[in-house]
Amino acid sequence: MKIIAVGMNYLPHIQELNSERPEEPVLFLKPDSALCSDKQPFFLPDFSQEIHYETELVVKISKLGKNIAEKFAHRYYDEISLGLDLTARDLQRNLRARGLPWEISKGFDQSAVVGHFIPKDRFENIQQLHFRLDLNGKTVQQGSTAEMLFGVDRIIAYASRFFTLKTGDLFFTGTPCGVGPVHKEDHLEAWLEGEKMLHLRVK
Ligand code: ZN
Repeated sequence: MKIIAVGMNYLPHIQELNSERPEEPVLFLKPDSALCSDKQPFFLPDFSQEIHYETELVVKISKLGKNIAEKFAHRYYDEISLGLDLTARDLQRNLRARGLPWEISKGFDQSAVVGHFIPKDRFENIQQLHFRLDLNGKTVQQGSTAEMLFGVDRIIAYASRFFTLKTGDLFFTGTPCGVGPVHKEDHLEAWLEGEKMLHLRVK
């Protein structure tokens, strides 16, 4: 399986990173080795002093698809969750400044934390979902999927022009503002419409 992630999909987050508003979804991949269940602790890696959390709606692809039309994209996923797109911000900043690919800052082991999945049918409109992240019991990120620059169906349609989508592939759909660093012994909890989807211990 593969993990396709969208960068810069919420305006306030684009502003906090001093980036430009994109014309098309900005996609990057994480390898399957980046997957991290929230049942295991996250171990701070030795190559970064600044691992940031980015809380994101995650969508799981349910069937094979290529060149999917946006109006049919909803047929290609049944389940959603929340995830943390963990980012080595110091490495990313350095690589971006030099115009180099920043895969290692986004695709390292355990960088794609995923909670439990629930049926999307539980909600009337997945582009109207509130979610938040609590760090040690204090809310540090909150947003609504209504604020996405590119909605889930648009992202899937766009990505499927380049990448054949397979059952089990995951989409990380971008983070709202409020990203920040994690530290040893931190406890993170992500909530979707009042339901706890994910919890993570940092070691
Ligand atoms: Zn992200």
